[in-house]
Amino acid sequence: MSQSNNIETAARYIQEGKLVAFPTETVYGLGANALDPLAVAKIFELKERPTFDPLIVHISNMEQFARLTPVNDERVYRLAEKFWPGPLTIVLPKSDIVPDLVTSGLPTVGIRMPSNEIARQLITLSDCPIAAPSANKFGRISPTTAAHVRKQLPDVDYILEGGKSSVGIESTIISLTECGFQILRNGIITQEDLEAVLPVDSGSVTEKLAAPGMLKSHYSPRKKLLVADESTALIDKSRAGLISFSGDLDNGFSKIIRVSQHNDLKEYAVNLFEAMHTFEDDPAIDIIIAEPVCEKGIGKAIMDRLRKAEYDWRK
Ligand code: AMP
Ligand code: MG
Repeated sequence: MSQSNNIETAARYIQEGKLVAFPTETVYGLGANALDPLAVAKIFELKERPTFDPLIVHISNMEQFARLTPVNDERVYRLAEKFWPGPLTIVLPKSDIVPDLVTSGLPTVGIRMPSNEIARQLITLSDCPIAAPSANKFGRISPTTAAHVRKQLPDVDYILEGGKSSVGIESTIISLTECGFQILRNGIITQEDLEAVLPVDSGSVTEKLAAPGMLKSHYSPRKKLLVADESTALIDKSRAGLISFSGDLDNGFSKIIRVSQHNDLKEYAVNLFEAMHTFEDDPAIDIIIAEPVCEKGIGKAIMDRLRKAEYDWRK
């Protein structure tokens, strides 16, 4: 593995069918040429990701977009106008050039244009769309720094440094229906934000579309993580770390990471995975308690990550 800020070298690696971990505003991605099935296969192998879980394809311009999907729907252009580049993934019917491995055999492909400059330059210099899931082992905590990537994927061909991700949680994913959009994964772009452009389709999300992103367990630290509730009062706090949002639960914990100084859910999102990584790496901590927030707006995305992170530990 090598690492630096050399985007040209990273782009050459992508063109040679190798893997490059790179910064995006959401989390660090593990990228490969999206049109090269052998390169894409290496992503699944290194991540130990099941092939039923499709990858998002990252673009840097609308010419690439037009090659990935036959759809020419003015609603997509309105969404792109407002939210791209940015943390929104749109699932659309795929064109033939998109390998089945990228989409896990689905007839649709998830497409996103990231706002992170390094990510976009990498895609442009590579001269191809880049398929990229988060750069972590499957099911584990997403990386928001290059150091997090090194911890879980020391064997990746190249890591492009880009500081800390400015959003901190994965993109909002939507699909389009006849009457509007449906949210497949919550993110920092909320239903309310999207409703400024298109009506929400309140029908239930079809099982086929929903299945890949609706795993109950995900984003999971190796140490026990629980969302705080009535039973938190009963635990031994001497080796417990608190991910604190409001400060209301701070009493008694041996260590506390305050994820927001200003009661700001965006700050919670930015710092959430980093806090999980810090406690996971801390030998003085055996259990992580995370403060819940109201499931409205960005709070929906934060609670989605926390519920999935605690799932295996609650069973
Ligand atoms: P990740 O790359 O880990 O951020 O997650 C990619 C997620 O995007 C998958 O787990 C799916 O939930 C979702 N996704 C990607 N492509 C599709 C698609 N064609 N249809 C439905 N969901 C998709
Ligand atoms: Mg992921």
